[in-house]
Amino acid sequence: MNILVLNCGSSSLKFQVIATDLEVIDRNEDRQLARGVLERIGTEALITMRAEGRPAVRDAVPLRDHRAALDHVLRWLVSPESGVPGITSLGDIHAIGHRIVHGGEKLTRSVLIDEAVIDQIEECIELAPLHNPANLKGIQSARQVFGPGVPQAAVFDTSFHSTMPPESFLYALPYQLYVRHRVRRYGFHGTSHRYVAYRYRQLTGLNHEQTNVITLHLGNGCSACAIKKGASFDTSMGMTPAEGLVMGTRSGDLDPSVLEFLHHKEGMSFDELDSLINKRSGLLGVSGLTNDMRDLLSEEREHEDRRARLAVEIFCLRARKYIGAYLARMNGADAIVFTGGIGENSAEIRARITADTGFLGIVPDDGRNQELVGGREGEFGAEGSRIRLFVIPTNEELLIARDTLRCVLGVPRRW
Ligand code: ADP
Repeated sequence: MNILVLNCGSSSLKFQVIATDLEVIDRNEDRQLARGVLERIGTEALITMRAEGRPAVRDAVPLRDHRAALDHVLRWLVSPESGVPGITSLGDIHAIGHRIVHGGEKLTRSVLIDEAVIDQIEECIELAPLHNPANLKGIQSARQVFGPGVPQAAVFDTSFHSTMPPESFLYALPYQLYVRHRVRRYGFHGTSHRYVAYRYRQLTGLNHEQTNVITLHLGNGCSACAIKKGASFDTSMGMTPAEGLVMGTRSGDLDPSVLEFLHHKEGMSFDELDSLINKRSGLLGVSGLTNDMRDLLSEEREHEDRRARLAVEIFCLRARKYIGAYLARMNGADAIVFTGGIGENSAEIRARITADTGFLGIVPDDGRNQELVGGREGEFGAEGSRIRLFVIPTNEELLIARDTLRCVLGVPRRW
């Protein structure tokens, strides 16, 4: 089955076309037929698209909205020039899988999209005011183009964390606020944490019950997850993605009273404070330079930039704090898995996060660590490391395609 995976942001659309089937999944032979990114939708959009085995096609085209962006992608997919294998008409796309950021408390599994599901995704808009409306635009656009004959599934960033116990997901706020407004921790990046836990099982031959790991998704957004017996037991992001680790532009954990203080001192409104902690903090805020880890590391190396170094140090220390916290939370773990743009590519950051943690049984092997970059998967713990260390490149789109297939076939997922 050819599945179009859509990930719609407020002004972006990312897509992949993945050919998969149940036997294909068993053999791990799903094929990525095409992929692409359309950014700055609403103005002159920047477009990069690539068919399997072909060079990328880059273009700049004015695209009014997500519907226009989807039309653009589909025209390219079916055109002979694109060279996407097996796709010559819209009929060659058999189902659509959407990445949806917030599923709230009710949408705890990937589901086929119907009116009731759309209503529930709409209900979650107040929890994810930037993300869910864009995700819904993707669903509506695909429905307009493909009609009711092509099934669509929703895969939620939050659903993997629905197994967290109340002690993990409740804030120490008056309980009535949870009852009245569902103020609680939901967690995000669930598809990524779930995918790397699945790959960890494949690499180690362990089963669900035996999967006790800490996963660190370190990209532009960052989160840690304590996975116990294969299920999310605790995670660092909260009611919104602002909580937890230091990120590219988000502060992560913060004394909440800082906001009131800044409101008085700087006369900042709630909107400005929200933008401060989500868009102007983190690596960017501390360094005053950039949210890009690659650039910070080279500033630190080449110019000995003090604030670049501080930003990286705070980033690494926060990650290390969470490792310590989750080891205590789970009474130990068998492995730590690094993923996301930074986790997959930066041996230096992995080394700095795992430095001086021998007491906890975490001992990296420098040589092996250096080798695991550029999409390579593998293990980098030293011989005597009690806790195994892995780098596993994430693949959320693959999981979305496989979940969509299973929803369409009505087959329960096994992992
Ligand atoms: P997103 O969360 O937007 O999907 P990614 O997972 O692609 O982002 O991660 C982006 C981050 O990964 C950026 O901070 C980028 O600098 C960082 N990154 C990518 N390659 C490297 C590298 N070789 N060394 C250090 N950081 C890297």
